[in-house]
Amino acid sequence: QTTHNSRKRGGWGAIPLWQKILIGMVLGVAVGAIFGHDAEVLKPIGTLFIKAIKMLIVPLVFCSLVVGVTSMQDTTKMGRVGLKAIVLYLGTTAIAISIGLGLGTVFTPGAGLDMQVTSTDQVVKEAPTLIQTLLAMIPTNPVDAMAAGNILQIIVFALGLGVALTLTGEKAKPAIALFESLAEAMYTLTGLVMKLAPYGVFGLMAWVSGKYGLDILLPLIKVISVAYLGSILLIVVFYSGLLSLLGRLNPIHYLKGIITPAAVAFTTSSSAGTLPASIKASQEELGVSSSISSFVLPLGATINMDGTALYQGVCALFIAQAFGINLEFADYALIVATSTLASIGTAGVPGAGLIMLSLVLTTVGLPLEGLAIVAGIDRILDMARTTVNVCGDIMVSTLIAKSEKELDEGIYTTSKS
Ligand code: ASP
Repeated sequence: QTTHNSRKRGGWGAIPLWQKILIGMVLGVAVGAIFGHDAEVLKPIGTLFIKAIKMLIVPLVFCSLVVGVTSMQDTTKMGRVGLKAIVLYLGTTAIAISIGLGLGTVFTPGAGLDMQVTSTDQVVKEAPTLIQTLLAMIPTNPVDAMAAGNILQIIVFALGLGVALTLTGEKAKPAIALFESLAEAMYTLTGLVMKLAPYGVFGLMAWVSGKYGLDILLPLIKVISVAYLGSILLIVVFYSGLLSLLGRLNPIHYLKGIITPAAVAFTTSSSAGTLPASIKASQEELGVSSSISSFVLPLGATINMDGTALYQGVCALFIAQAFGINLEFADYALIVATSTLASIGTAGVPGAGLIMLSLVLTTVGLPLEGLAIVAGIDRILDMARTTVNVCGDIMVSTLIAKSEKELDEGIYTTSKS
């Protein structure tokens, strides 16, 4: 209705947000291509947008997660939804790496590359073990976790508080109402910040395309193409397929509904940063109930990284091929297992996947020098993998909502504008 009315007004204000974002993206690429490094002066516009969405993350995740839990009414439902989410998240991640490995084997992006790099000033961080990751999820001080923006710890505390509010009953009603109203206000604030998206996206794209001219991209065009092809396949074939097979839903509506969060993910390279946009789109465009989306999406933005997993598969093979190292079947299995665990521990921030790639390379015994080459184009790869990460989270939330009978199919099937 709003769009209909505004369309009559004409002009920039009448264009739907996702189209404005795409316009910003295309103009940004053009400006970057024309002005090269000079276009980097536009980056602050992008930074402004990123800062504005980052500002939303902690209060939005916290309030909406508490409300997500309290609205579930019973803890059995919460356990069931949580279990479904974790099974789907891990399963899709393992398949994503396998697709990455398959594409890397078929297209051999590293073949013929002379990568005799000896010096690497890449800082290789030790990746945490599974036990460390699990222990790190529990905050010793929730206020500290919020101040530091540690999403996983915030999730754990919010889940605990939500359960406690539910168990408390009558006396907790005012607190629940307070969280509900704060969560609503945060959604409104998200809507306001999203109005900045087209400009932010323009600034970020101008910066990326100005910084990485064709001369940097061309030598590595094969690995970039394979990673992008894999990303497109995951979203358009695999996710769409799961939605229609498991959810009996027409995936076209999903593909249309994810455009705005996908564009935000692509340009910001941060799934945590895209969270406000994904929550908004899953509720308003796809009809996922707020109780499912506010529970499943923050969890996904933190532990579900299909794009990162795909990237690790492609890059591990790329590096092996470039250095002429043969991998056995056991190595492939090891890559799948390590990447799945590594992607859970990957933070939803730009560049995190590159650090985790060092873990995969070390486990399989591949040269860490390979990181230096991949690092040169990491932002370009990060844009694709973050988009997949976010689209995967939204797909899972849609499937779970459908199975819990909490998907408003009226909203899901409405044509998006
Ligand atoms: N940037 C990615 C994300 O936020 C993580 C990664 O670097 O792989 O989802």
